[in-house]
Formats: sequence, C-alpha cells, structure tokens
Amino acid sequence: IMPYHILIENSTLLGLTFEAVVSSLAIGYRVRLLAQARDRAEIAEAHAMSMADTDPLTGLLNRRAFLRTLLERNSNWTLLLLDIDHFKRVNDSLGHAGGDEAIVQVARALQRKMPKGALLARMGGEEFAIAYRGDMMLIEPDELLAEIRSIDLRGGYRITASMGIANRNVASDDDWKILYRAADMALYRAKSDGRDRFIRTRPQAKAA
Ligand code: GH3
Ligand code: MG
Ligand code: MG
Repeated sequence: IMPYHILIENSTLLGLTFEAVVSSLAIGYRVRLLAQARDRAEIAEAHAMSMADTDPLTGLLNRRAFLRTLLERNSNWTLLLLDIDHFKRVNDSLGHAGGDEAIVQVARALQRKMPKGALLARMGGEEFAIAYRGDMMLIEPDELLAEIRSIDLRGGYRITASMGIANRNVASDDDWKILYRAADMALYRAKSDGRDRFIRTRPQAKAA
C-alpha cells in the first residue's frame, strides 16, 4: 500500500541505532558526573584529614598529629617543650587578638630555626613542642630563645619563653609519657629558676 522508501524499510534498525547512541551519551555523561563527584570527595577528604592534623591558628601540627607521627617512628627522640612566659600579661596588655598574634609570631620564629626533618607542634595554648631524632643538640636552645626575644609585637611589646629538654628512646605510649614528663618537669624548673631560659634533663625510668 505504501510506496517503497529506504527509511521505512529500515525503521527498526534506525530506531535501535538512535536509542543506542542516546543511551551511550547518557551513560557517558553520568560516568563523567560520578567521576567529578568522586574527585571532589577525594579532595574534600584530603582537606579534612590535613585540617584534623593542623592547628588552625598557626598551621603547625596539633598535639594529636605530633604524637601520632612520633609514635609511628620508634626511635631515640629529643623533645623540647617551650612555653611563653607570663602569657596572661600579654593577653592583658595586647588583648586576646594580640595574644593570638604573639602565638603566631612565636610559631614563625620556631619555624625559622627548625632543623630538617624536625617535628614542630602547637601543643595547646602558648605551649609548643619540637622533636627530632637522635640525642645531638641539633638546635641551639639559646638561639631559639634569642629568636623569641627578638619578636617585635605591637607597641614594641617583648616576650620571652622557657624550655625543657629531654631525650629518650620512644617505642611505646609509656615511653612517650616518660619523655614528656621529663621535658615538662625541666620546663617547670626553667620557669621557677626565673624564666627566659632552658633546662636539659635526663628522663627518669618510671612513668607517671
Ligand atoms: P608562665 O610564665 O608561668 O607560663 O605564665 P603564663 O601567664 O604564661 O601562665 P599560663 O600558662 O597559666 O597562662 C596561659 C594563658 O594563655 C591562659 C590563657 O588565657 C591563655 N591562652 C591559652 N590559649 C590561648 C590562645 O589560643 N590565645 C590567647 N590569646 N590566649 C590563650
Ligand atoms: Mg606560659
Ligand atoms: Mg602554659
């Protein structure tokens, strides 16, 4: 009844071809969207992980990341704990924002003096920790303290810091506690001896 026409004759084939082209385009598009979503998720995850390890004020390692990194590497560690002297006065004189700025400046001063491969963390408040492998004095403590004295805060305000230094083989959580306690006690002594100084100690064998 209908006259012969090549398109009508092959309509089923044409329909199938059309459908195949459309669906492969749709699948390709969908795969692309999923790949983009996956890339975004990977970037977000990496970002979240580095945020979780970083102190937001200074960009240094936080306490958790510092401790994890240290415990990952069974080794002999030298630990320096540094605490800004009379920091409450800094806050009282310069305000909380001025105090924060002092913390950031101390972080930068410590970064300038870090030996290669050393870990540097803000442990909380105005306390910092430096750790490196081995028992050599890779850092001249007096140089660190001088660098902090040379920080020029608003209105010419000057700050000092005190340090406790200890060394120990660290292979377990208990070793870390002994090392930390030793450095902390040395820091406490540096404070009570008049501040703006460091004390280096030999850790005791017993954990707290
Ligand atoms: P010391 O010489 O014995 O170390 O005296 P200090 O005044 O530094 O003593 P302490 O460690 O008790 O005081 C720390 C103060 O630091 C208390 C707290 O209000 C303040 N502080 C802690 N974290 C922050 C912070 O992130 N920013 C600011 N601006 N202040 C902080
Ligand atoms: Mg302090
Ligand atoms: Mg403190």
